[in-house]
Amino acid sequence: MPTRVIPVDPFDLVIFGGTGDLARRKILPALFVRYLACQLPADARIIGAARADLDDTGFRALAAEAIAEFGCETSRHGRDLKGFLETLHYVSVDARGEGGWPELKAMMRDGVIRAFYFSVGPALFGDLAERLHAHGIADRGCRLVVEKPFGRDLESARELNATLAQHFDEAQIYRIDHYLGKETVQNLMAVRFGNVLFEPLWNNHYVDHIQITVAETVGVAGRGEYYDRAGAMRDMVQNHLMQLLCLIAMEPPNMFEAGAVRDEKLKVIRALQPVDPHQIVRGQYDPRDDIPGYREEAGNPRSHTESFIALKVHIDNWRWAGVPFYLRTGKRLKARSSEIAVVFNELGHSIFEEDVEPHRNILSIRLQPNEGIDLQVTIKEPGPGGMRLIDLPLDMTFADALDGHDEDVADAYERLIMDVIRGNQTLFMRGDEVEAAWAWTDPIIAGWRGRNDVPKHYESGSNGPEDSQMLLHRDGRRWREIKGE
Ligand code: NAP
Repeated sequence: MPTRVIPVDPFDLVIFGGTGDLARRKILPALFVRYLACQLPADARIIGAARADLDDTGFRALAAEAIAEFGCETSRHGRDLKGFLETLHYVSVDARGEGGWPELKAMMRDGVIRAFYFSVGPALFGDLAERLHAHGIADRGCRLVVEKPFGRDLESARELNATLAQHFDEAQIYRIDHYLGKETVQNLMAVRFGNVLFEPLWNNHYVDHIQITVAETVGVAGRGEYYDRAGAMRDMVQNHLMQLLCLIAMEPPNMFEAGAVRDEKLKVIRALQPVDPHQIVRGQYDPRDDIPGYREEAGNPRSHTESFIALKVHIDNWRWAGVPFYLRTGKRLKARSSEIAVVFNELGHSIFEEDVEPHRNILSIRLQPNEGIDLQVTIKEPGPGGMRLIDLPLDMTFADALDGHDEDVADAYERLIMDVIRGNQTLFMRGDEVEAAWAWTDPIIAGWRGRNDVPKHYESGSNGPEDSQMLLHRDGRRWREIKGE
C-alpha cells in the first residue's frame, strides 16, 4: 500500500548555513528523497547561503557528497540526482555583513512561496531576520524555519522570540522539533483520536502510569563543549520529551489543526507540577575499556553536567491526577531505543483459577528502532495445558504494515520541510509553548545549582544509574527494558 504523494506548490527555499553539518546530514538528503518521491514541483528552487566562497557547481558537489554520505538507502540508489542538483543554487552571504544580499534578492522569484531555513547558530537569527527585511527579501507570506536549541532558559527564549517577532508574525515561524515529524508520533494521535477503543481509557481510572524513554548509545564526543553547557535536561527533556508528553497527555483538540493542537499542548505544560528533587536522578557515564567517560568527552574534568536524567512528573488536571509520568533519557546506554509506554491498570479480579500472574495491557509506541505501535494483550497459552494465560504484543510495525514499502515512512525532516511549504504549523512548536517549557525547567536546574548537586556515575552500556531503577521500585513499578534492534 504505497502512500499517495501530493506535490507541493512552487517554492524558493533559502538554507542559511547550507554548507553546515545539519544541512549536509539532514536537510539536503531529505529534500532529495522528496524529489525522488515526485513531491517537489519541477520549478522548485533550493538556495544554499553561507559565507564560504562557492558557486552553484561547488554547492551541487557538496550536496551530492552529503547525499552519498548521509542519505537513506532510497536516496543513495536514486537515479535522479542530476535533476535534483539542478534545483540547487548558491549565494555567498554574510549574516553580519552586507555582501551577497543584493545577489540573493535578485535570485528570488515573485509569485512562489518563500521559505528561509535558519540552519545557523541562534546568535545569527537576529542579523538574518533584520537583513532579510532591510533588503526586501522577506515578503508577507514568507516562512521562517528555526532549529533547536531555542534558548537555554526562559530569559534567552523570550529574547529570541522577541527578536524574531520584530520581523515575523508567529504564523510565519516554524520551530522544528524533529521528534514531532516522526511517523509514530502522528500515529499516536491517529490511534488516540481515530479509534473508539482508547480514548475512553485514557485517564486516571484506567492508566496506572506512563513511561517515556529516549535512550542513546552514543556519547557526547564531537559536541562535548555545547553539551556540557546544556546537559540532558536542556538538550532532550525541555524539548523532545516534553513534546511527547504533551501529545500523550493533551485533551482532544476540536480539530487536527495547528492552533487547536498547540493550545492543548500548552495547557499540559502549564499544568505540570514542580518536580520534587527526590524524584529526579541525574547521571554521568564512566569510562569503560577503551570508551572514554563523559568528563573526558566533554573536555571538562570537573563537570557536573548530566548525560542521563530520569524524573517522575505529575500533571495537575482532572484527567491525570495521581498518574505518574516517568521520563528518562541518556547517552551511552545499553541500546538506542525511544518509546512511550502507556501502562494500564492490572485486572481487578481474575476468573481463571490457574492464573496466578497479574496481567495488564500496555500500549507501546516505538519511535526507534522499527517505528511502530504494539498493544500487549492477554490470551490463552496455546495447547492443551489448561486455561493458562500469557501476555503477547499485537504488533503493528509500520514497515510491515506498509507491505515492505518502508521508504514510504518518510524521515521526520522530509515531512517537516514539506509541511513548511504547505504552510501547516501543526507539528511545530509555538513560541508560548517553548517559553512555558522553560518556565517549568528553569527552577529544576536552578535547584541543582543551589544544592551543588553531583550526578551519579553509571557504566557505559548500562540502563543508567542504579538510583533511576529505585525511582520506580519505590513506587512498586519498574522501567521497561531498553531494547534495541
Ligand atoms: P555548523 O556545521 O557549524 O554550520 C553552520 C553554518 O552556518 C555553516 O554553513 C556556516 O558556513 C554558516 N555560517 C556561520 N556563520 C555565518 C555567517 N556569519 N553568515 C552566514 N553563514 C554563516 O552548524 P550545524 O551543526 O549545521 O548547526 C546549525 C544549527 O542547527 C545550530 O543552531 C545547531 O544547534 C542546530 N542543530 C544542528 C543539528 C545537527 O545535527 N548538526 C541538530 C539539531 C540542531 P560559513 O562558515 O561558510 O559561513
